[in-house]
Amino acid sequence: MNAPAKPVFRFAPSPNGELHLGHAYSALLNDRLAEAVGGRLLLRIEDIDVTRCTPEFEAAILRDLGWLGIRWEEPVRRQSEHFGEYETLLRRLIDAELVYPAFMSRGEIRAHIAEAETKGLRWPRDPDGAPLYPGADKELSKAKRRRRIADGEPFAWRLDTEAALARLPAPLSWREFTGETLAETQEVEARPQDWGDVVIARREIPTSYHLSVVADDALQDITHVVRGRDLYFATSIQRLLQNLLGLPEPNYFHHRLVLGPDGRKLSKSLGDSGLAALREQGVSPAEIRQMIGL
Ligand code: GLU
Repeated sequence: MNAPAKPVFRFAPSPNGELHLGHAYSALLNDRLAEAVGGRLLLRIEDIDVTRCTPEFEAAILRDLGWLGIRWEEPVRRQSEHFGEYETLLRRLIDAELVYPAFMSRGEIRAHIAEAETKGLRWPRDPDGAPLYPGADKELSKAKRRRRIADGEPFAWRLDTEAALARLPAPLSWREFTGETLAETQEVEARPQDWGDVVIARREIPTSYHLSVVADDALQDITHVVRGRDLYFATSIQRLLQNLLGLPEPNYFHHRLVLGPDGRKLSKSLGDSGLAALREQGVSPAEIRQMIGL
């Protein structure tokens, strides 16, 4: 008989800036939990945004994580090396008519929403506060879509969220651990409709954050997605994609965020909470753990 598979955790930073205390918390928590349950820890570099991600930031991430004492399994998965795999999944969504080419530019979206709001209607916003995509191009005929694409018009592939939800056999939910001991989970209702028609891929990049994250969580057999609270609501979209693509369902734990002295979420431009800057000031890895309460 095969031994039961080990739990698999991942830390998945984007190399578009330097790691800060918030990343240190997430990476150290993944490391600690993987160790506590006899699991594996994988590192994934989420660099699909080839304009903002750089090899220098990636090298700095590896250096910072090594300095913190985190050990991950090799090889590291670098998303920019797997566009073909994401494209295969995208193709399935296109063939199933679950995504459509969305041609509205930012300016057109803004004008559309402003116009609707002059009529006293408050346009719906997503959980991050951004207005939902108007979705008018869902009505375009196939011939029109083909012509506009052939003409070289910019577009993004967007999920037809309503159509996707209508195909599900049962209401959608996910399992969220109730605490850091990972002893229990609770079922959380997924509400992809709150995000509207999200971008699944771009004309020039055959993927998006949501598509590549569900692809890789499946390909890497991730059983435990441990990440910040800021991605809690994004789980709704990811569960929908997992369902549509027949991918397995990991368990989730969305941990607390490390906040700056002003009580706000840390950002990549906050120099003094950057790990490299702290190291240069002589702060030790043990002191980093203390600073973030681990
Ligand atoms: N790459 C994402 C980030 O750096 C994390 C994705 C995830 O953990 O699902 O915010």
